[in-house]
Amino acid sequence: MSPVPPPPSVSDGPSFWASLAGVAADAAFPPRCAACGALVDPAVSRGFCRACLASLPLRGARARWLRTLDAPPAPGDPIPDFHAVAACFYRDPVREVLLQLKFHEAAHVAEALGLLVADAVMRVSAEQGILWDAAAAVPLHPTRLRERGYNQAGLIARTLARRLRIDDLSPALARTRATRVQSLQDTPEARRENLRGAFAAVAPERLRGRCVLLVDDVLTTGATLHTCAEVIQAAGAACVSGAVVAATRKSLGET
Ligand SMILES: [Zn+2]
Repeated sequence: MSPVPPPPSVSDGPSFWASLAGVAADAAFPPRCAACGALVDPAVSRGFCRACLASLPLRGARARWLRTLDAPPAPGDPIPDFHAVAACFYRDPVREVLLQLKFHEAAHVAEALGLLVADAVMRVSAEQGILWDAAAAVPLHPTRLRERGYNQAGLIARTLARRLRIDDLSPALARTRATRVQSLQDTPEARRENLRGAFAAVAPERLRGRCVLLVDDVLTTGATLHTCAEVIQAAGAACVSGAVVAATRKSLGET
């Protein structure tokens, strides 16, 4: 028989009830590894079991700020130095977890991914003495949001913001029109054109003067992240950089 906890005293305060609620939630939904589904000890797992944690394709020291365009900045680019930090290489098991998050209603794995991004951001920010004060997610078009039920970047941004103790401004941006699939656009110019005018700031005053981490799941060509960052910058943000779970080889100029 399980031991019965002593009744709470007044001095136990909200923390007692919070921990009791946590125990109840863990019992109803025992924490599982985001990659393989094995039960894990939440005190040590941070979302992955020991074996999957050891096999994650972390970029480690190479999580540094990466240029996010697959071509030189276009003439007049307002943020030619825009960079992003990527926690992982786009390989399994992270690749598989990201696909689950996008296509299989697996919102519960977002927390594990958000923690990976937070670790990478903390490491490179500490090296460079950067202090971020807000996070904002790359938005989904409302139709896609209705189909999926959640914005995967928004879930990752929420965990990142909580971990870094910064504000989550999502939804700071809105996707104002549907766009064609970016990966099917052949050239950097076509990708930029496909995204022209596709994003707008929802409440520009919330972005003004802030140092914003723009969050997405995967960095591929970088055009979407770059276009959203331009909108954040135009709204008056003091600085903006990207933060993603994984970067594909294409986004890094690797072959
Ligand atoms: Zn696992």
